[in-house]
Amino acid sequence: MAGRFGPYGGRYVPETLVAALDDLTELYDAVRADAGFWAEYHALLRDVVGRPSALSTAPRLGELIGTQVLLKREDLNHTGAHKINNAIGQALLARRMGKRRIIAETGAGQHGVATATVCARFGLECVVYMGEVDVARQALNVYRMQLLGATVVPVSSGTRTLKDATNEALRDWVTNVPTTHYIIGSVVGPDPFPRMVRDFQSVIGIEARAQVLERGGRLPDTVVACVGGGSNAIGIFAGFLGDHDVELVGVEAAGKGIASGHHSATLSAGRPGVLHGSLSYLLQDADGQVLPAHSVSAGLDYPGVGPEHSWLRDERRVTYAAVDDQDALAAFQLMARLEGIIPALVTAHAIAWMTRSRGRWNADQTVLLCLSGRGDKDVAHVAVQLQEPS
Ligand SMILES: *Cc1c(COP(=O)(O)O)cnc(C)c1O
Repeated sequence: MAGRFGPYGGRYVPETLVAALDDLTELYDAVRADAGFWAEYHALLRDVVGRPSALSTAPRLGELIGTQVLLKREDLNHTGAHKINNAIGQALLARRMGKRRIIAETGAGQHGVATATVCARFGLECVVYMGEVDVARQALNVYRMQLLGATVVPVSSGTRTLKDATNEALRDWVTNVPTTHYIIGSVVGPDPFPRMVRDFQSVIGIEARAQVLERGGRLPDTVVACVGGGSNAIGIFAGFLGDHDVELVGVEAAGKGIASGHHSATLSAGRPGVLHGSLSYLLQDADGQVLPAHSVSAGLDYPGVGPEHSWLRDERRVTYAAVDDQDALAAFQLMARLEGIIPALVTAHAIAWMTRSRGRWNADQTVLLCLSGRGDKDVAHVAVQLQEPS
């Protein structure tokens, strides 16, 4: 069935959204086969984002782990993360639909900044929903969005984080669908969003595969990425899914530890359920109530995950692991000192899994990390965390 990944995905939405999703699906299916659309998309990725992003070595991190490490540098993109790849693709679709008002949800603020940036460039109205807790944690990104001309709407319901911001954005969309496109920030939501966002992010994996081959003449042994909603991970995995000898690893946030109940390890500790329009693994209690998620990193504290990851987990094509707050904070500092790169705190979870897995690879093997974003926006938050015993 279209829009499903095995049993996962689908469309669990109010009737008012069905026509809009049908229109979007029809347009996207047409656009997928339209070489002109992709030429425009790739021209904008070059011009606005600065793609292709670099592939770097990480010799000192590699020495510590005992293997070769390569970094796909999405942190070097304009606005500092992979999110803008998707924002540009969806803004192009909105333009084709004649919709001039854009809404988005954001957690850490990176997707909001990417969307506000693209809206400024295209001359579109932009409204970003953000939980009040995240507004406080990520003040710099809030101000950045406002500078870019976006309206940031603080959300005070529920846990006042990403899940609630997404609810509010969906509510807005239901009301304003004739004029408004919803640029969802990850491979979540009802069909066609998960496959559409995947296709826009697959540029990461397609570029990385060619760059790794050009550098060393062979494929990496392992590809590692952090998983929030799962878009940077799906994006880099997309380049290697057909290469069955390449191990794929997604790293979730274990927060204060899975046993504590305060975590965001949806694939490691959740069960299938419906959130934000699709069926996927979900943190929920015995009655099916969605459980609050925790992570030291804003934006990772999301109780759901993209449906394609649920399928890749069940099929065992991808291995999912979880890293706690303390290990992520340690990896954040380690990466800065060893490689001169301050990674996003989210990305630090994947780095921590690599250092924890020392001994898994020999010196001739290669591990490719999706360095999904830079950590400038996290520095103040980390400074506080490192002073507080938690
Ligand atoms: C938003 C974000 C993530 C998490 O989102 P995914 O959809 O899982 O990629 C990871 N890294 C960075 C730098 C982000 O900004």
